Amino acid sequence: MEKLKKGSRCTICKAKGEKGKAVVFLPHHRLALCKNHYIQWFEKRIEKTIKEFRMFSKRDRILVAVSGGKDSLALWNVLIKNGYEADGFYIDLGIDQYSKDSKELSVQFSKKIGRSLHIISLKDEIAPIPVINKSTKKPACSACGAVKRYYMNSYAKKLGYRIIATGHNLDDEVALLFGNTLHWDVKYLRKQYPVLKEEGGFIRKVKPLCKITEKESAMYAFFNGIEYIEYECPFSEGASSIEYKEILSKIEEKHPGTKLQFYTNFLKNMHPIIKEYYEKEETQIKECRICGEPSFNEICAVCRLKNSVERETVQN
Ligand code: AMP
Ligand code: ZN
Ligand code: ZN
Repeated sequence: MEKLKKGSRCTICKAKGEKGKAVVFLPHHRLALCKNHYIQWFEKRIEKTIKEFRMFSKRDRILVAVSGGKDSLALWNVLIKNGYEADGFYIDLGIDQYSKDSKELSVQFSKKIGRSLHIISLKDEIAPIPVINKSTKKPACSACGAVKRYYMNSYAKKLGYRIIATGHNLDDEVALLFGNTLHWDVKYLRKQYPVLKEEGGFIRKVKPLCKITEKESAMYAFFNGIEYIEYECPFSEGASSIEYKEILSKIEEKHPGTKLQFYTNFLKNMHPIIKEYYEKEETQIKECRICGEPSFNEICAVCRLKNSVERETVQN
C-alpha cells in the first residue's frame, strides 16, 4: 500500500507493548498496522458504518450482490465473520471471459464460506450485455447498471430478502459524487446515500463499504486469501467514472484524507439540505405497465431495453 517506512511498528501492537511489524500504512488514518490488526481494523470499520447508518441487524436476512470482485467478496466475508445472515446473488452478464471468470470465483468463494449463492443469467432474462449494448444508444455502463439494479431488486423480493448490500466502496462513491457535483445533478445527489430506504416496491439498499477505499479492500482480500477477478470489465474502458477516479487519486496522493472528507462532509453538511429542499419534488414511484416492477416512468428501463433488443432482432 502507500509508503510504509522500513522497520515501522504496528500502532496497535506498540500501544499494547507488543512487537508487531507494520505491513500496511493508512496515511489518511495515520495508522501503521500488522496483518492481524489490519484485518481487525477493517472488520470493525465496516461494523461501525453498518451501525452509524442503521443498515441492518443480526435478525435480518441480507442478500449480498456479488460481482466476483474484491469489494463484494470482502464484504460478504466480513458480514459472515461479524455474525450476519448473508447469502450471495450473482448476475451472469454474459460478457465473455470476464463473466466466466467472475462467476467461477464467486461460486468458489460461496463454497469456501458455505453460504448459498443465487445465480441468474441475463441471457435467460433479456439478453447478454453485448447484445443489449448493440441495441441501445445508452452508454454501456448505464444500461448494465439499470439491468443490475432491476434484477437485484426483483430477485431479492422473489427470494424473500428485504435488504440488498452492494460492494460500492469510497472510491466509487467519491467518483459518483464528483460527477454529480460537476453537473450539479441534485436529483442524483439527493439519492446518494449509504442507505436507500424500502419504498414503493424498491427494497432497502445499503453500501457498507462506503468508507473503505479500493486499496483497503484489495489488501483485506489479499490477507484473507480471497481470490477475486483482478481485471476490469472490458466495457468499462473510457467510462467517465474511471477518469474521475484517476483525478481524485492524484489529489489524494498529495493530500491524504481528501476523498474521505469530501464524501463524509457531503453526507453531513450537504445531503440533508438537498434532501429537505427537494423533498417536495419527490417523484412518484409507479408500477411499470408491462412488468409491474417499480419505476419512475410508465414503462421501466428494463422493459424499454427489452423492446429495443426485440426490435433489433426482428430487423436483422
Ligand atoms: P460495479 O457497478 O461493477 O462497480 O459494481 C458495484 C457493485 O455492484 C459490486 O460491488 C457488487 O455488489 C454489485 N455487482 C456488480 N456486478 C454484479 C454482478 N454481475 N452480479 C451481482 N452483483 C454485481
Ligand atoms: Zn499489530
Ligand atoms: Zn418493466
